[in-house]
Amino acid sequence: MTERELGGTSEPTLRDLSEGLIRVYGTDYGVHSPVWITRFTDAARQAETYRKGRVLLAGDAAHVHYPAGGQGLNVGVQDAVNLGWKLAQVIQAMSPEWLLDTYEAERHPVGAKVLQNSLAQVALMRRDDRSQAAWKAVSELLKMDEPRKRYAAMMTGLDIRYDFGEGHPLLGRHMPDLDLVTAKGPQRVFALLHDARPLLLNLGESGGFDIAPWADRVSLIDALFAGPWELPAIGAVTAPTAVLVRPDGYVAWVGDVTQVGLADALTTWFGSPATE
Ligand SMILES: Cc1cc2nc3c(=O)[nH]c(=O)nc-3n(C[C@H](O)[C@H](O)[C@H](O)COP(=O)(O)OP(=O)(O)OC[C@H]3O[C@@H](n4cnc5c(N)ncnc54)[C@H](O)[C@@H]3O)c2cc1C
Repeated sequence: MTERELGGTSEPTLRDLSEGLIRVYGTDYGVHSPVWITRFTDAARQAETYRKGRVLLAGDAAHVHYPAGGQGLNVGVQDAVNLGWKLAQVIQAMSPEWLLDTYEAERHPVGAKVLQNSLAQVALMRRDDRSQAAWKAVSELLKMDEPRKRYAAMMTGLDIRYDFGEGHPLLGRHMPDLDLVTAKGPQRVFALLHDARPLLLNLGESGGFDIAPWADRVSLIDALFAGPWELPAIGAVTAPTAVLVRPDGYVAWVGDVTQVGLADALTTWFGSPATE
């Protein structure tokens, strides 16, 4: 139910709801025993910055929007997961403080996109002729495979690509949850991420990597994967021979046949190599 006036600050009551229904429909249909009544607005706001010194914003403290599309919780949890491992590494002096600035660089554009998307949805939900016409036009588009897939990928956050430079399409995207075969038997990629450590997945020749200087913080797993590499937003991609996955599940480096750039990626994301 949309209230006629903005500005109610008290908790909404069953009586408010009943009166509102009577105003619109002429009856409150005998409404009773509510489980939950709440008030929210279609305010769309984003904090200009997510970090000021030791103060960091995540979740609804960083961005609020109309709940259409149900994206708020997902975006907020992804903010927190993006930030958590970075905070831990900086606190443990494993990484320099600038790592915290990558939090805003990566997550602010994602929040802005969600706001833009929810604003568009609010506009499409209006009842006037023009908004209804726009709604029908968008509905037609969403009957087509490509727009529907893109839209679904956007709403689920699976289209996110952080800017880690040029390279394989996996770079900067979320690692898919593949069924792997490892020395310990079948394992899912996400299960390997449960202990929130960075993961170097060697899908090529077993024993082909030596990351001794980072061994205290990065897990190296030799694995086989025989299935197709398919990403939700972009479809099939060429199979990499290795991937470096951050604790938040995003791919920080992709190997083809060489290991070019691996040491740089390890240093950037997980700190300088340990010296004896
Ligand atoms: C009607 C509605 C439907 C929604 N539906 C969906 C949906 O389907 N899917 C989805 O993903 N998202 C949905 N959302 C959005 C989702 O609920 C929010 O994005 C999410 O709850 C934000 O979580 P948060 O932890 O960042 O903030 P909050 O859930 O707001 O948590 C902040 C907490 O901090 C507490 N607090 C505030 N000030 C202080 C203080 N000074 N000291 C101590 N504690 C304080 C508050 O009491 C609150 O418990 C919906 C939102 C609404 C309103």
